[in-house]
Amino acid sequence: LIRFENVSKNWGTNHVLKSLNFDVAPGEKVSIIGPSGSGKTTILRILMTLETPSEGKVIVDGDTLWDVTRGQKVRETRQLRETRKKIGMVFQQFNLFPHMTAMENIIEAPIHVLGMGKAEARERAAELLNLVGLGKHMNHTPPQLSGGQQQRVAIARALAMRPKVLLFDEPTSALDPELIGEVLNVIRNLAHTTDMTMLMVTHEMRFAEEISDRVVMFDNGAAVESGPPAQIFKNPQQERTRSFLRAVL
Ligand code: ATP
Repeated sequence: LIRFENVSKNWGTNHVLKSLNFDVAPGEKVSIIGPSGSGKTTILRILMTLETPSEGKVIVDGDTLWDVTRGQKVRETRQLRETRKKIGMVFQQFNLFPHMTAMENIIEAPIHVLGMGKAEARERAAELLNLVGLGKHMNHTPPQLSGGQQQRVAIARALAMRPKVLLFDEPTSALDPELIGEVLNVIRNLAHTTDMTMLMVTHEMRFAEEISDRVVMFDNGAAVESGPPAQIFKNPQQERTRSFLRAVL
């Protein structure tokens, strides 16, 4: 469903992604692990069209999202917007609108981007708030919610767009330890009950092991090893993976 073909990303002389080739199958749950600065977040940001690759091609659900050859960008804005609707993202820092209630945060994009009617959008948002255990908090604004509750609203907001692909960028790294579990429970539940394709950057190794079909180890702008969680965590083939896991586990 997702394909990166020879994708590079440079910030000046900093080569963040180096001719990356990377695929995710429909419905697959993939976790990306690796040291800080290895380019993990950049992959998600390119998929979200928040970042432009310097070189290479990115295909999502059969549509070319990016095609950059010799620095020449070939992309029609309208098409990019259509493809972009198939992708949702949950950010490290939640990124909710602080002055809007949980309900308003969730219905904003379905109404303005998908053209959904207000009643339908509210009904769907209420269902999603129930799904993430926040049915009673629909009229709270982010400052009235804990970090874990805000992140659960952010997950409901992403789901409201009915994305084919859901991206998570270290969804628990901004949370106090006692709030991490409630967010992981919601993500675990989604991973086990939906056929959405999920791609998650995470430092929660045990969680990655538990919910992923496949784990990809990133270092220095490239995927150094990819395989089922049992292989990556119990029997890594690459020395770089072994040393990383020794340091974090
Ligand atoms: P982390 O786990 O710390 O989030 P990461 O593996 O997700 O790390 P990225 O966030 O993808 O890494 O960043 C990779 C590199 O790109 C870093 O060296 C970072 O400094 C650089 N970088 C990211 N955004 C920019 C920017 N806007 N301008 C310049 N350099 C950037």
